[in-house]
Amino acid sequence: PNYIAVSDLANLINLKIEKLTKDLTKMGFANVTHNYILSREYVELVLMNYNYELGKQALVVTPDNVYDELRSAVNPKNLSRRPPIVTIMGHVDHGKTTILDYLRKTSIVSEEHGGITQHIGAFQVETPVSKRKITFLDTPGHAAFLKMRERGANITDIIVLVVSLEDSIMPQTIEALKHAAKSGSQMIVAITKIDRISNTKERDRAIEKVTIDLMNNEVPIEKMGGDVQVVPISARTGENMNLLEESIIALSDVMDLKAERSNKAVAEGFVIESEVKKSVGNVSTVLVTKGILLKGSILICGNTYCKVRSMSNEQGASVLLADPSTPVEITGWKHMPAAGDEVLQVSSESIAKKYVAKKLAVLQMAKEAKNVDRINEQRAMEA
Ligand code: GDP
Ligand code: MG
Repeated sequence: PNYIAVSDLANLINLKIEKLTKDLTKMGFANVTHNYILSREYVELVLMNYNYELGKQALVVTPDNVYDELRSAVNPKNLSRRPPIVTIMGHVDHGKTTILDYLRKTSIVSEEHGGITQHIGAFQVETPVSKRKITFLDTPGHAAFLKMRERGANITDIIVLVVSLEDSIMPQTIEALKHAAKSGSQMIVAITKIDRISNTKERDRAIEKVTIDLMNNEVPIEKMGGDVQVVPISARTGENMNLLEESIIALSDVMDLKAERSNKAVAEGFVIESEVKKSVGNVSTVLVTKGILLKGSILICGNTYCKVRSMSNEQGASVLLADPSTPVEITGWKHMPAAGDEVLQVSSESIAKKYVAKKLAVLQMAKEAKNVDRINEQRAMEA
């Protein structure tokens, strides 16, 4: 027959009807019931989604998990410390960009001096005292981050909440606080623009006022026995910027941030920006979260893949490898990868092609499932 009801299919392939209807819903079919009708092509696609491992209750393949079997399990032996990934949030004009510019200018990790920093969406600094690395993301409001968050991926370890000494807490400060509470990231408060008040007593009083406002907004600050550090800074004069950087490092040590830094682990990461550049083609900034990326690595991402042709840092200098928490700009993508999508290393170009094709088929099925839904709706109306 060219059509089969869900209940009959479940019998044929030895699955509980409830399990099959649930799985079909995951695959993109709507309002699936026992007498939901599937046409032959869909049955084939459904079978494909069971990885041909019927009876073993195999994982249902959906557009979101089609690449999961390519990941490697975490080997605790390979875990090593990684730099914290930090975003700066706060009310408009409170000084986010100024802080990022200051950090870029003064402490960017680079061999040579005087390099022109490029905008690649993220950069690393080396702290002046402890000589440790911190990764700053400078596009946290970007759609890519919303997309990651929707999927439950939060790559930000620490949020630096910027509050201007002059204005204290403003509406977007409260938004940022709400976000921080939901995100699972840790927080540090930077009270900025302290250079605006030269009289020490007056300045201390203003800092005290912001501190009280923070407490009134339920921020568990250190002074009151909580765990949120408050650092008064000026990004204009650089006062206490060292202290802010070292506070981030101290917090990251408490968080005990680790990732597998080994080329035995399958490398993973996220695309944080991508664009077409004249002469090099599709370029993306990838933030590595696991393993080690090398030139020549094969990566898949969304519906495309890449043989890494070149890797460079925020200074445009070419780099040989990128380990966890390192952002790199890479070229070699067949098509443009989308910001916010996950990147996964595979062992060969043919595996990359195979999995991308599989993903496209699964996506196609999810799309066509909607046509089946329409047929079923019609049937229901006629009945
Ligand atoms: P953003 O909207 O949060 O990115 O804020 P900006 O970094 O663009 O800063 C807004 C304004 O405040 C600019 O005119 C900055 O020069 C100024 N500003 C930022 N930080 C400081 C600071 O520490 N001291 C002083 N005096 N001005 C600052
Ligand atoms: Mg800004």
